[in-house]
Amino acid sequence: MCGIVGYVGPRSAQEVLLRGLEHLEYRGYDSAGIAVVDQGEIQVSKAKGRLRNLRDRLEAHPLHGNLGIGHTRWATHGEPSDLNAHPHTDVKGDIALVHNGIIENHQRLREFLEGQGCVFVSQTDTEVIAHLLHYLYRGDMVQALREASGMLEGSWALCVLHRGEPDKFWATRKDSPLVLGLGEGENLAASDIPAILGHTREIALLEDKEIAEVRADGVRILTPVGGERPVRTFHVDWDVAAAEKGGWPHFMLKEIYEQPRALADTVHPRISDGLPSFEAQDDIPEGFWRQFDTISIVACGTAMHAGMIGKNLIERLARIPVECDIASEFRYRDPILGKHSLVLLISQSGETADSLAALRLAKDKGVPVLGIVNLVGSSIARESDYLLYTYAGP
Ligand code: GLU
Repeated sequence: MCGIVGYVGPRSAQEVLLRGLEHLEYRGYDSAGIAVVDQGEIQVSKAKGRLRNLRDRLEAHPLHGNLGIGHTRWATHGEPSDLNAHPHTDVKGDIALVHNGIIENHQRLREFLEGQGCVFVSQTDTEVIAHLLHYLYRGDMVQALREASGMLEGSWALCVLHRGEPDKFWATRKDSPLVLGLGEGENLAASDIPAILGHTREIALLEDKEIAEVRADGVRILTPVGGERPVRTFHVDWDVAAAEKGGWPHFMLKEIYEQPRALADTVHPRISDGLPSFEAQDDIPEGFWRQFDTISIVACGTAMHAGMIGKNLIERLARIPVECDIASEFRYRDPILGKHSLVLLISQSGETADSLAALRLAKDKGVPVLGIVNLVGSSIARESDYLLYTYAGP
C-alpha cells in the first residue's frame, strides 16, 4: 500500500505533489519521491524516510515544472532506501513512473528485460514496469500501457510520464485504488480523494485496466481493448478527515473491513497454477515444509492469536504437531527444539523485542527460523533464515 499522485496544470507541480503526498502519508512512509518534467527533461528527487526528508531535499534543490508525479512508499519488495524509492525510470530516463501494488511475475519479467539489455538499479518489483514500457513504447504510451497490462500479473495503480510528451501524464490501475480529479485548467490523479480535494471536488473513477490520458485542459479515458469512453464525474462534499477514513467513523473499523483485501494481497502472489508456491516470491524451495516434524509458532499479542489459528490449520491440514508460545515465555522455558524443528515467528513490525530474542535463541540452537513479517527490512526480517512478508500496508 503506497500513495501515488499526478498533476498537470498551471501551478508548480512540486508544491501540488507535496501537498497531495501529505494526505497520502498514512498509506506509507518508507520513502517519498517526485518526478517533474522541466523543458523536456525528467527530473527526479527522492528520499528515504518521512515526507519531510524529501521536502528538505526539495527546499535545497527545487524542481521546476507544471507536470509531475509523486509517491509515498510502503515497501513490499526491496528494503526502504533512496534507491528503492519511487519514481522509477527506464534505462534512458525517458519514462518515469510511480506504482502502488505488487507485480507478481516481476522475477520472470526482470530476467526477460535483462536479456534485452535493461540494467536494473533497484530491488523493487516496480522497476520492471519502467523497463517494460521502454521496451514496448513506439510513440504511443496508451498502446504501450495496453500491451504491458497483458504481460503484468498482480496489482497496480500507476502514474506515468514520458519526457517526449511534456503536456500530459497517464494513469491506469488494476486492483489498486486510483481516482481522477477534474479541475479548472488543471487535472490530477491520486490513490485517494483527500489528495485531490484541495483542487477540485469533481472526481472520476477508472475501471480495471482503463487508461486515463491526463492534460491540463482535459482527460480522456481509453478502454483496455481500444477506443474511448465518456468521462463521468461525481461531486464529493465530504471533508478531508472523513475521506481519509474512507467513510468509516474510525480507522480501526476501516482496517477491520480492509482485512479481506490485505489477506488477498498476501495470498495471491503465492499461488501458482492454483496451488501454494513460495519459490518465486520468497525463495523457499519446494519440499521445504516436509523436513519438519514439529513447528513452534512464537509471537506476541495479536500476532500470537494469529499463531493459534495457524496451529489449528497446520495440524489439521498438514498433520504436523504445532506448539504456539508467547515469545516472552518461550525464551525462558528452555523449549525442546530438535533436529527437525522449525520456529515460525510472527510480527507485524518485525521489531517485537521478545520475538527477536526468541529468534536468536532458536538460531543459537541451530534451529531454522521462518519469519512472517509485515515491515520490510525490519530486524526479524533481516535475521530470519526464511521470510514471508504479509502485504497489509502500514
Ligand atoms: N511493490 C512496490 C514497492 O515495494 C510498491 C509498494 C506498494 O504499493 O505497497 O516499492
